[in-house]
This record gives sequence, C-alpha cells and structure tokens, in this order.
Amino acid sequence: MALSLVIPCFNERDSLGPLLQALGQLRRQLPADLALEVVLVDDGSRDGTAEALRQQAPALAALGRWQLLELSRNFGKEAALLAGLDHATGAAAVLLDADLQDPPELIPAMVARWREGHQVVNGVRRQRRGDGWAKRLTAHWFYRVFRATSHLDIRLDASDFRLIDRTVIDAILSCRERVRFSKGFVAWAGFSQIDLPYDRPAREAGRSAFGFWKLWNYALDGLFSFSTAPLRIWTYLGTAVALLSVSYTVVIVLRALMGGIDVPGYASIVAILTFLGGMQMVGMGLIGEYVGRIYLEVKQRPHYVLRRHDSG
Ligand code: UDP
Ligand code: MG
Repeated sequence: MALSLVIPCFNERDSLGPLLQALGQLRRQLPADLALEVVLVDDGSRDGTAEALRQQAPALAALGRWQLLELSRNFGKEAALLAGLDHATGAAAVLLDADLQDPPELIPAMVARWREGHQVVNGVRRQRRGDGWAKRLTAHWFYRVFRATSHLDIRLDASDFRLIDRTVIDAILSCRERVRFSKGFVAWAGFSQIDLPYDRPAREAGRSAFGFWKLWNYALDGLFSFSTAPLRIWTYLGTAVALLSVSYTVVIVLRALMGGIDVPGYASIVAILTFLGGMQMVGMGLIGEYVGRIYLEVKQRPHYVLRRHDSG
C-alpha cells in the first residue's frame, strides 16, 4: 500500500532543500508497510524550480517512488493539485504545500486517523503565523459565508493540507469542472471526515503567491461554484423593491386625489432612479459572474498542459 504526497510548486527553488529534508524525516516516522510516492508538480515556475527538482531525483528515489510533472505554464495551484491527483497512484494522498507551511511531521498522525477508518483527515489551522490580520479576518468570514450559502459542511479554517482516501480522490476526480475549489469538492464528496488541528508556521523561504486579488477571485470562485444563492437574492430584492414602489404609487395617487398635485419631488425621483439603476447593474454583474463561468465550462479546455513527466 502506498501513500502519495502531492506537492504543488510555484517558484519554490529555495524551499526544496528543507522540504526534502523534512520528507526524509517523515519517511523514517511512517509505518514500514506504507510505501511513499512523491508527486511534485512544477506549476510553470520561473526561478528554475523544475531543474532543481530534476536534480533531486536521487534524493527522491531514496524516499520511494516519485513523479515529476511539469506544467507548460503557470496554471494556478488548483490545476497543479489536479494534475498531481490525476497521476497519483497511492491508496491515499496527502496534499502538501512546498513551502513547509503544512508541517510534514503531522502526516503520521493523519495516517493513523486514516487507518482508524476516516476517509478524509483535514489539517485545520489553529494559528496563522505569517498571515496579516486582514487575511485572517477575510478568511474567517469567507468560510462562514461559504457554509451558509453552499449548505456544504466545509471545515472552518481548513487548509488544503489534508489526507484523502482513494475513494474520495476518485469522487473528486469525477468532477471535471474548470473552476476548481478543492476544499468545496472535499466537502461535497462526503465520507467520514475528521479534523487535525495544527499551528501554521510562516513560510520556509520565498514569498506567498497569493496576494489580495488572487485570494478575492479565489473566494468568488468558491462561492459561485457551490451556490446559486447570490442569484436568488435578486428575486427577493426585486420583489421587495416592486412592492415598495406599488405602495408608494398608492400613496401618491391618494395624495393627489385629496390635496391636488404638487410639483416638488425632483430630488426623490433622482434618488430612486439612481438607486434602482445601481441595483440593476449589481444584479447584471452577478449574472455575468455565472455566465462567465458557464462560458469557461462549455469551452471544455483541458485543466492543464503537461510539458514533461519524469518518474522513477
Ligand atoms: N502554488 C502553485 N501555483 C500557484 C501558486 C502557488 O502551485 O500559482 C503553490 C505554492 O508553490 C505552494 C502552495 O501552492 O506550494 C501555496 O502557495 P503559497 O505559499 O504562495 O500560498 P499561501 O501559503 O500564502 O496561502
Ligand atoms: Mg504558503
């Protein structure tokens, strides 16, 4: 039986040394009857990560089986994870960041949980060292909004660091949609899930590839892929506004019948017009978010393109 480690790498040249050292230590801590398969995915790095990885082949061979996948350009972490899972052959896989922010020391505990019969073992961040207050606050709220709108039991503050059993891997791989939010897929797949809290350390080297806009767009992908609640809001909002305007019309008519027609009202008309115009634009933008995603799906492009695949 083998455990696959799926590790996406984007500009991680300086993290590779410490990563391989940590994996060597991990090999010694894992049960002897569990073989390792290390699947490293280079997501179009521009700092020579791919070459550095190939040079590490002997060190990788010492750990067990290995695969090096090189994507033809930067496709993003989700695509890199998918490429890794597509090629992983283990009875379970652990998704692991290359920067050692997901401590490999935790993996033996994950394996123990898996052998107890849980199909998903989530690494849940207790602390987020190295993340600013703004990132912590938005992440906190994102998971709560996601849960409320998607009705999926997504783990609060779960990272991508998790062990998933082959049954769950196959369920996730059967979802071939382009817009990918893997935390959502894991929750959608169901099965027995358990949490394993850990303190998230700061990055080993280099800097985070996820700035504000990347995270914002990722959050929108997550929300829109797993919920149509934002579309439904407009039905209620539109009904509420229409009802208000009908009652207001009744008031105006009654007033005109009782006291005649008064001319003033320019300001209130402009206010109402601009308010409704704004609401309509927001509503259209929202529909646009879904239409854009439908467009992405119907094109049926591959999720990633491989430039090279080595294994040993
Ligand atoms: N990553 C990737 N492709 C990208 C961005 C990131 O494969 O386009 C990898 C990166 O190498 C790392 C993991 O995804 O292993 C997490 O990225 P990062 O550390 O930048 O994110 P953070 O930990 O700050 O959320
Ligand atoms: Mg990181």
